[in-house]
Amino acid sequence: MAVLNLAACAIWNWSYSASFRLVVLILLHALAILIGLKFGWLWAITCGMLVAACYCWMVLNPHCQWLGPVICKASNDQILITIDDGPDPHDTPILLGLLDQYHTKAIFFMIGEKAKAHPELVREVARRGHEIGNHTFTHPQASFWCAGPWRTRREISQCQKVIEEITGKAPCWFRAPVGHRNFLCILSPVHWV
Ligand SMILES: [Zn+2]
Repeated sequence: MAVLNLAACAIWNWSYSASFRLVVLILLHALAILIGLKFGWLWAITCGMLVAACYCWMVLNPHCQWLGPVICKASNDQILITIDDGPDPHDTPILLGLLDQYHTKAIFFMIGEKAKAHPELVREVARRGHEIGNHTFTHPQASFWCAGPWRTRREISQCQKVIEEITGKAPCWFRAPVGHRNFLCILSPVHWV
């Protein structure tokens, strides 16, 4: 995984902070191996498990800020309403009606392939003044957190492309499927919510 990350970093010229984290991750793995050589493999396995626990904390905890800024709450006493997994021909019109009724705006985190199937709903959401966010192209909820660099990039960029083609505006917000972040997503051009 670390090698894949580093390769992706080199290919796509990603940010310094991402590179720094990758180097730290590789050094921690190297340190675990050195400890194993010096003190025995039981210690190496223990250290490796500690590194893995940190990694899991970063990607599985949706509030963790270690991979970059995550917006967990709105400023002051405001409430940020977000709606995931659409657009849906049944739910989305009902939700739009409710939001209009209460003069409220929301961020709709859309799945790219659903947006592609229902472009009229995407346009309607944008027309009513709501924000549209990126929620990956296929919503791979069980495997997004451990996806490799190419697949991660494809999931995010295809969704960006579909929404931009429909609305004329690229999303600037991103939410990972079920909130499980991918180590590589710190490198995406969008913000996490
Ligand atoms: Zn979702």
